Parts: sequence; C-alpha cells; structure tokens
Amino acid sequence: MNKGYSIAIDGPVAAGKGTIATALAKKLKGSAIDTGVTYRCIALLCIQNKLDVNIEKNVVNILHKANIVIDNRKVFLNGRNVTQRIRKEDVSNGSSIVGVYPEVRNELVKKQQLLAKNSIGKGKIVIMEGRDIGTRVLPNAELKIFLTANVQVRVKRGLERYKQKGIIKTLSEVLHEVKERDYRDSHRKVDPLPLKPDKYGYWTLDNSSQTVDETVAAVIKKLKERELVR
Ligand code: C5P
Repeated sequence: MNKGYSIAIDGPVAAGKGTIATALAKKLKGSAIDTGVTYRCIALLCIQNKLDVNIEKNVVNILHKANIVIDNRKVFLNGRNVTQRIRKEDVSNGSSIVGVYPEVRNELVKKQQLLAKNSIGKGKIVIMEGRDIGTRVLPNAELKIFLTANVQVRVKRGLERYKQKGIIKTLSEVLHEVKERDYRDSHRKVDPLPLKPDKYGYWTLDNSSQTVDETVAAVIKKLKERELVR
C-alpha cells in the first residue's frame, strides 16, 4: 500500500481552490475534500429551520442535528442530497457567518480531521481545501498551499459561476459579496484565513494569470521538489 499524506489548500473566496483540489486529486489519484461544504450545511440547516444565523445560540443549538455525509462531490444533509442547494447565495453568505462561531468550528474541524485520517489511513493522498486547513485542521500537512488570485479575477470567476447557474448579477454585487466574505474569514477570532501565510509555512501561489493546467503543473513541480511525488 502507498503511504498516504496530506496537501492543504487555503485561500480567499473564488481563488480556485475547489477546481485545483479536484484536478490535483485526479492527477495524483487522491481524494479532494472540500471543507466549505460542512459550513454550508450548517447554514442550510438554519435556513431550513427558519433560524437567524446571526444569533450564535441558534446555530450552536442546532449544530448537533446535522448529519453531514460527503460522498465524492455529492453532499447529503440529514439524508437529503443538498449538493446544488448549498451553492446558493443565501447559504454562501450564511456559511461565512456560522464559520465565525467557535463551537461550530470545533465540531466541524473534528469531523474534517476524521475524514482526512480515514483517507490517509487507506494510503491516499488527501487534498483538503478551506481557510484553516494548514493552520488548524492539518497543521502537519506535507504541503501547505495558499492559493490566491487578484480580486478582479476572483470577481470574474464568481460572476461566471453565477452565470452557469442562470443567475445574473452585476460586477459590483459580486465584488461586495466577495469582499464581505473575505473580511469575515480573515478577521474572525478563531482560526482566521491567515493574512501572513508565510508565517505558517505556506507556499503562496497566485494563479491570477494561470490556466488550471498551469497551476496544477506548478503544484506538481513543488511536490517533486519536496520528493512527495516522483
Ligand atoms: O470554500 P467555501 O466558499 O465553499 O466555504 C464557505 C464558507 O465556509 C467560507 O466563506 C468560510 O467562511 C467558511 N469556511 C471556513 N473554514 C473552512 C472552510 C470554509 O470558515 N475550512
């Protein structure tokens, strides 16, 4: 059996983390784990129960009623397939609000660590993406990537993502949304998205002017340098 190990990918909204994690997993025959879906499920559970996510007590009280199952790229919440639903705007905004609460993070981090441990135990390369993977969830990851892109590029990608779902938004609406979520993610008290990733041993990769293939090739080169792949 191969020896499993982990790669952490953190970065701001719409930096391409999901796309790169999926492409890398395909190339390395590993598993990509998107931790954002766990925060999205908690936000959705609040919405389904008509609870205001801005009230911490509401969210903490319902937290233990969430049974989240991730099966490849499909996500199930309490037995229901919510893969598409959790990508809607109300859930996106709600997820960065529930992600501020320490009890929510504690609970979800434990779940994410278990998911990684199970895959690594099976000899798999785990590529886990989020905001605090390299700082909190998998601080000993063999490679920590801080994936970023300039805000114009990220807004363009966000607009494109909406368009694919048939939602038409203006550039300034998406810019506002991206900035708001980034601010919350990097200024919360518990496990924020690092503002100085170098301090935590990340390798920063700006993919603003790269294609997906170019970014994947840059990561593979880095893995080779570290003798993590041949
Ligand atoms: O990555 P994605 O945009 O799907 O994540 C949704 C939200 O969940 C983020 O805006 C962030 O607030 C939160 N999140 C987090 N920590 C992670 C992953 C996501 O706080 N590891």
